[in-house]
Amino acid sequence: MSYIQFLGAAGVVTGSKHLVHVDSDGARPLQVLIDCGLFQGQKEWRERNWQDLPSPAKTIDSVILTHAHIDHSGWIPRLVKEGFHGPIYATPATVDLCSILLPDSGHLQEEDAEFYNKTRASRHHPALPLYTMEEAQQCLTLFRPINFGETHAVDKTLSFRFVRAAHILGSSMAEVTVNANGRSQRLLFTGDIGRVRCDETVAGKVLDCGPTQGEECDLLVMESTYGNRLHPHDDPRPELAALIRTTLQRGGTVVVPAFAVERTQKFLFLLKDLMESGQIPRVPVHADSPMAIKAVQVFLKHSEEFTSDSKAAIAKYGSPLNWSNFYFDSTQQDSKKINASTYPAIIISSSGMVTGGRVLHHLTQRLPDPKNLVLFIGFQAPGTRGFSIKNGAQSIKIFGQDVPIRAQIAALEQFSDHADTPELLEWLHTFPRAPRQTFLVHGEPDAASQLRTAMTEALGWDVQVAAYRQKVSLQ
Ligand SMILES: [Zn+2]
Repeated sequence: MSYIQFLGAAGVVTGSKHLVHVDSDGARPLQVLIDCGLFQGQKEWRERNWQDLPSPAKTIDSVILTHAHIDHSGWIPRLVKEGFHGPIYATPATVDLCSILLPDSGHLQEEDAEFYNKTRASRHHPALPLYTMEEAQQCLTLFRPINFGETHAVDKTLSFRFVRAAHILGSSMAEVTVNANGRSQRLLFTGDIGRVRCDETVAGKVLDCGPTQGEECDLLVMESTYGNRLHPHDDPRPELAALIRTTLQRGGTVVVPAFAVERTQKFLFLLKDLMESGQIPRVPVHADSPMAIKAVQVFLKHSEEFTSDSKAAIAKYGSPLNWSNFYFDSTQQDSKKINASTYPAIIISSSGMVTGGRVLHHLTQRLPDPKNLVLFIGFQAPGTRGFSIKNGAQSIKIFGQDVPIRAQIAALEQFSDHADTPELLEWLHTFPRAPRQTFLVHGEPDAASQLRTAMTEALGWDVQVAAYRQKVSLQ
């Protein structure tokens, strides 16, 4: 029997992994994974990272990767460690981003294991990393770049094509065609869907908006992160400038937890714009991440995806790596220097949901002081430290210590790289026909079920919320 099976991002926003199993006339079945993401957030989810797949890794033939975010790509090194050795298909920009994100993820896994061993906080002795930085580096040789719009045949039963998702640099949807048992079916895996309209709603957007319109498929597997949300449609810049000015005036520092790729670059462009137009003072801006410099270089290499505003900004100001007052801190010594400084500054540091990385050190030092501001500009998944801090926790556990939260906490919701519900519906209205079945993944249960209702009402489609390990027949 040919089927697809949801092995992650079902009822949750992390761990994206969907198996396409094609059984054709007695030949050995073909097994392709669409995305291979890490579970993040709550412990019950993270523990799934340690479970084997229902189909052994060595029986998976290839991986088709929609984009580089760790919740879509971060389990690849584990898959390889478990015996997978096939090709991993992704767009050229996704390949470049994975070459910095996956080794960093391995480094974080090693740090976590080391920490648990030091504090004996784990039930497992010794705690082992899910995979190491070296293992993550080794799996990069399996990546095969495939350009947008190019059809690639995995074998005679399955071919695919990447189309634009407009979510982050290199992000795509995978149009998969299955030809088996005398029947051809089109499956569309959206990955994460970016903003449908750029105009007034997405300030500081570095990349062009607009996922490819007019998609046609028999079976749709679609994300639902913002299935119950409306993004604010006002320009965030006046509020952002006011928050930064007030903090700097009282001698405080602004700490911005942000993903090192995409969100950090977008925020750097906004800050540059606010400084050049005199809306905020020229204070040091630190992009503090071991991969900050590489992430900017990958961005500049793929200027084909930039908005005309971004192209104009680079033409006017040059590479962010050369901007005065902007520092890209790649070594641990650089990072420690920022911590030693009491001079007001803006620090952008990962991870975006405060689950690990250098932002932990910056927050340990700066959360207890009411002069400082911690500003969230990204989605915070339930169960993460970022979610707790954003939602008014009085203290937070970092490195096993309770850190009191006295700093000002603020959040701006305009920076999302996901379409909200009206945008998703607008995009779905461009489909020339209804898919036979639609499955919603990559959403909290409430978001997925509200989007299901909205889609059923607006489009009259057959929409279901995917369940973990559910199999859907392709017969
Ligand atoms: Zn994503």
